Amino acid sequence: MFVFSMDAFVIVLGLLLGSFFNVVAIRLLKQQSIAFPPSHCPSCKHPLSPQDLIPIISYVLLKGRCRYCQTSISPLYPLGELVTVLSLYTVYKVVGLSFELIPAMLLTSLLVISVLTDIREKLILNVVTFPFIGILVIVRLFIGEGAFWYYLIGGIVGFSLLLLISIASKGGMGGGDIKLYAAIGLVLGPWLTVMSFVLASFVGAIVGIFLLLTGKVNRKQPIPFGPYILIGTLTAYLFGSQLWDWYRSFF
Ligand SMILES: [Zn+2]
Repeated sequence: MFVFSMDAFVIVLGLLLGSFFNVVAIRLLKQQSIAFPPSHCPSCKHPLSPQDLIPIISYVLLKGRCRYCQTSISPLYPLGELVTVLSLYTVYKVVGLSFELIPAMLLTSLLVISVLTDIREKLILNVVTFPFIGILVIVRLFIGEGAFWYYLIGGIVGFSLLLLISIASKGGMGGGDIKLYAAIGLVLGPWLTVMSFVLASFVGAIVGIFLLLTGKVNRKQPIPFGPYILIGTLTAYLFGSQLWDWYRSFF
């Protein structure tokens, strides 16, 4: 007997979206069409069959190799899928079935695609960010506990904060990050947006120091900030008020 489970539905949706976001990230970076040609192995060009379209599963089953030509496949595919599922499922569990889930899922999708393009090419693409900003402005007209202007100010605060830091650090922050923070502000509002950036910088600094000390990167090598933006933003958005109460309890 089939019992409909919302959890299972969200996980399957996350797997399918993760697979789709990988394709979106790779093709937009190469300035190719998203729809054509259908997904294929980058090495032997063999089209993928439906059983290959969930990378995380086929990656494990085929031990990281193409079913047709045995070329090893980049671990970025299953990794991108894993990040998508984990992020969307966490957001669903905390936000719950409510209208807020719409801006929440939209922002999470934008953040995941940005992470995927950022770790591949150190780029966060306008063709991705701009449509999401447009949709989020419209969504915030109708959905949210706060007033529309509250979220609008959030967008302006996110954009301005990153712009100021970019100017102060002489380009240490990319243009893609600045526009991404406009979208984050539209969903989080001003206070949690600032918290998102503080947390992202904090986690980024810890990981950066660790990578420097272990010799994985050198000081001049730029580190993509996208993954830390994802972590900082979801933490602030989902647990920001609890974090703030906890922080204030020390004073
Ligand atoms: Zn192949």
